[in-house]
Amino acid sequence: MKHTSEQLFKKEMEKVKGLEKKPTLLLHSCCGPCGTYPIDLLSDYFELTIFYNNSNIFPYEEYNKRLVELKKYVVKINESKNKNIKIIVPEYENERFNKILSSRKEDPEGGTRCHICYSLRYEQLAKYAKDKYDYICSAMTISRHKNEEVINKILSGYAKKNSVNYLYSNFKKNKGLEIAQRIAKENNMYKQDYCGCIFSLNNKR
Ligand code: SF4
Repeated sequence: MKHTSEQLFKKEMEKVKGLEKKPTLLLHSCCGPCGTYPIDLLSDYFELTIFYNNSNIFPYEEYNKRLVELKKYVVKINESKNKNIKIIVPEYENERFNKILSSRKEDPEGGTRCHICYSLRYEQLAKYAKDKYDYICSAMTISRHKNEEVINKILSGYAKKNSVNYLYSNFKKNKGLEIAQRIAKENNMYKQDYCGCIFSLNNKR
């Protein structure tokens, strides 16, 4: 029987709840609003670190603006919940990403270009996590513009290759998206109106 990502998430969380020591988790997050609910939820069960590897985002000012919002939220969670969540920011490689993604520049959002984009970021996440973290996961499954089954499939493949556990997710379920939207509103967060790459900027939602 094929399990949904939600069922796999629940199963893994039951396992984690029974552990004496919280496992470590490296969470990919692409912006403040998407990070809100996943960070809040996961920080109760994992020693969380955020990985902001989003070289797809163009221009640099936008990439930085999203990072600043994410940082503000992490500071708030650390203070209010007495946590020590850190954000790791690898090198911004937008030119490399653009070059690769441009081969599919005509694709609509959600198409092959996006799958390549996820692959580039998730491979980097899994490689970084190898031998350092117990789990990896991506906050992007909270977005209503993203297909969580595609995300889970790509990311779990890289997790396996790099011998790190993968936490399946569909954060938009169980009112996750509504909770994230409420937190973003309460915190007056900047919310972008395009996904990130230059091609999505030229074709704003
Ligand atoms: S639309 Fe978003 S996910 Fe798709 S290639 Fe552009 S930045 Fe990446």
